[in-house]
Amino acid sequence: MNKKQRRWRDRIVAAIVIFFAIMALEKTGALEAVFSEAAVYAAFALYFAVFLLAGHDVLLKAWRNIRRGDPFDEAFLMTVATIGAFATIFFPETEPQSAEGCAVMLFYQVGELFQSYAVGKSRKSIADMMDIAPDYANIERDGELVEVDPDEIAVGDVIVVKPGERVPIDGVVTQGASQLDTAALTGESVPRHVEPGADVISGCINMTGILRIRTTKPFGESTVSRILELVENASEKKAKTENFITRFARVYTPVVTIAAVVLAIVPPLLGWGPWTDWVLRGLTFLVVSCPCALVISVPLSFFGGIGGASKLGILVKGSNYLELLSKVDTVVFDKTGTLTNGTFNVVAVHPEAGVDPDYVLSNAAYAEAMSDHPIAISIKQAYAGEIDQARIKDVKEESGHGVEATVDERVVLVGNDKLMAEHGSSWHECDLTGTILHVAVDGVYAGHIVIADVVKEDAADAIRDLHAAGVKKCVMLTGDRRDVAEAVAEKLGLDEVHAQLLPEDKVNAVEGLLAHQHGDGKLAFVGDGINDAPVLMRADVGIAMGAMGSDAAIEAADVVLMDDKPSKIAQAMRIARKTMRIVWQNIIFAIGIKVLILVLAAVGVANMWLAVFGDVGVAIIAILNAMRAMRIDE
Ligand code: ADP
Ligand code: MG
Repeated sequence: MNKKQRRWRDRIVAAIVIFFAIMALEKTGALEAVFSEAAVYAAFALYFAVFLLAGHDVLLKAWRNIRRGDPFDEAFLMTVATIGAFATIFFPETEPQSAEGCAVMLFYQVGELFQSYAVGKSRKSIADMMDIAPDYANIERDGELVEVDPDEIAVGDVIVVKPGERVPIDGVVTQGASQLDTAALTGESVPRHVEPGADVISGCINMTGILRIRTTKPFGESTVSRILELVENASEKKAKTENFITRFARVYTPVVTIAAVVLAIVPPLLGWGPWTDWVLRGLTFLVVSCPCALVISVPLSFFGGIGGASKLGILVKGSNYLELLSKVDTVVFDKTGTLTNGTFNVVAVHPEAGVDPDYVLSNAAYAEAMSDHPIAISIKQAYAGEIDQARIKDVKEESGHGVEATVDERVVLVGNDKLMAEHGSSWHECDLTGTILHVAVDGVYAGHIVIADVVKEDAADAIRDLHAAGVKKCVMLTGDRRDVAEAVAEKLGLDEVHAQLLPEDKVNAVEGLLAHQHGDGKLAFVGDGINDAPVLMRADVGIAMGAMGSDAAIEAADVVLMDDKPSKIAQAMRIARKTMRIVWQNIIFAIGIKVLILVLAAVGVANMWLAVFGDVGVAIIAILNAMRAMRIDE
C-alpha cells in the first residue's frame, strides 16, 4: 500500500467506526433521549457528516464529470443514489434513509480501496518479478570499478558483474567463471554454469564469481529491456472478452440508469403506490448499475495470467494471445532449434575419391562463416581451425537450401540437394540417416558431411503434455530430409510430419492446416525464427524460442519462451485456460448477482443495504478470484 492509499484507508476506517457509533446511539435510543422529536434530524446531520468525510472525493469527481458533460460513471451514480437517500428526510411520510445513504458511500469506498489495492498489488508483483532491470553497470577505469548508467555502455565494451549483481546487458563472458541464476527469466531454478565464451543474457543474477562480459547489444536492445517493454505493452492488446466487457459496461450503465428513472416515475404516475416507495427502488437500481466488479476484475484476471506465465519464463504479449492460447487444438512445430537442440554433431565426412576430408570441412566452415543458422554454427564449431574472414566474400544465404560464398576466388556451395540441383552441381546420395551437407567447390563436387541433431530433453514430454491437454494434432514441419524428419517424429509421437519444405512451403502448410481448422480451435506455430518468421506471423498464435531464437522471431511472435523448452507450451495453455475460466466465472457471477438484485429491487424486496452489499461484495469476490490467475501451481 502506498501513502495515498494508506491515508485513504485510514479515512474510511475512521468513517466506518463513527458510522457504527452513530448507529449505536440511534438504536439504543440515546439520540432520542437527547433530541427527542428532532432525533431524526440529528441522525441525518451526523450521518451526513460521516458521508462527507468518507465520500467528498467521490462527490467532487462526480461534479467534475458533470461539468465535463460526461456524467455516466460510478462516481455520478453513487452521488445521485446517496444524495437521493439522504433527501428522504424531506418527505415526512417515508422512513428516512440517512444511514443507508451513508452506508452506500462507505461500502462503495471500501470496494474502491480494495480495487486500487488489488491492481497495485498485481502491478507490483509483475514489477517485482520483472525487477530485473539493473540501474547501473560496472566498468573498469584506471584499474577501478565505476558504476555507470547502462545506457552509456557501447556494444563491445567490457563490463564487470560482481557476485550478487544482475547482468545488466547481454554479452559474452571474456573472463571468469560463475553460476548464473536465471530464475527470474525462465522460472528455471537450477543455476547455469558459465565460463569464457558463454553467452549471457541480461537479467540473470551472477551468484559466485566475478565475470567480465563483452557486451553484444546496447542496453535498450538487451533481453531485460525487451522483456520489460513486452510486459508493459501487454495490457494494450485486449482480449475479445475484455473488449466485450468494456462495451457491455458502456451500455449497461445508462440502461440501468434510465430504468431507474422510469421505475421512480412511471408507476407512481400510474397511481400504483406512493412516490417515495418507487423513488427508493429507483435509487437502489442506481446502486446496482455500477459495473465495477466486471470492469475491474476481467482485465485484472488477464493481467494476473500474463504475470503468472512470465514467472515461468513465458512471455505473453497481450491478453488476446492468452485468450487464443486457451483455444489451441493444433500445434505446429518447426524442427531445428525447436524440437531439436540445433547443435549438430558431425557424424561422418564423406569426401569424393582423392579429396582430403579436411578440405571438405574447411570449405564448409568458410562458406558458413557469416551464417547464424544452427547448422552453420555447428559446422564452425566442428572445424577446429581459425577462420580468416579476409578470404571470404560474396556470401549468399538461401534459406531452406544452404549458402554460397566465394572463398579464395573459388565459389563454394554448402547445402542440401536442392541447392546442388539449383546450381547444376552433381552430388551423391548418402545412406546414413542424418542431415546431409553437400559441398561443391567451383562446380566440382567435393563430398558431403553428415550431421545429426539431438531432440530436446523435454520434447517427448512436451508432445505428451499437449495431447493430454486436449491438443488434437501435433505437426512437425521441416526443411530437413524425410528420413531425419520421420525418425524424430516417431521418437516424439507426433501426429503428422512434412519434410523437405522451403520456408514458403511452411507458410503454405500452415495455411492448409488453418483451412482445416473447424469450430473454435486455434492453431499455434512454434519456431525459432530462423527461416520461419513469416509462419510465426501467419499462425493464430506464434510461439518463439526466445533464448536461442532470432530477434526476428521475438518480434514476430505472440508468445516467447525464454528458455526454449517446448514443454512450456502446455504450461502456457494451462495458464491461459485457467485465466479464461476465472474470467468467465467473474462475468457470470457478477452479471448474475446484479440481475438478481435488480429484479428484487424492482419488486421492492431488495433495499439499499442489499444493493450495496451486492455491489461491493461481488466486486471483492471477483477481484479475489481474479488474483488467483497470478498464482502458479507447478
Ligand atoms: P528446419 O525446417 O528444420 O528448421 P531450415 O528451414 O532452417 O530447417 O533448413 C532446411 C534445410 O536447408 C536444412 O536441413 C539444410 O539442409 C538446409 N540449410 C538451410 N540453411 C543452411 C545453411 N546455412 N547451411 C547449410 N544448409 C542449410
Ligand atoms: Mg528452423
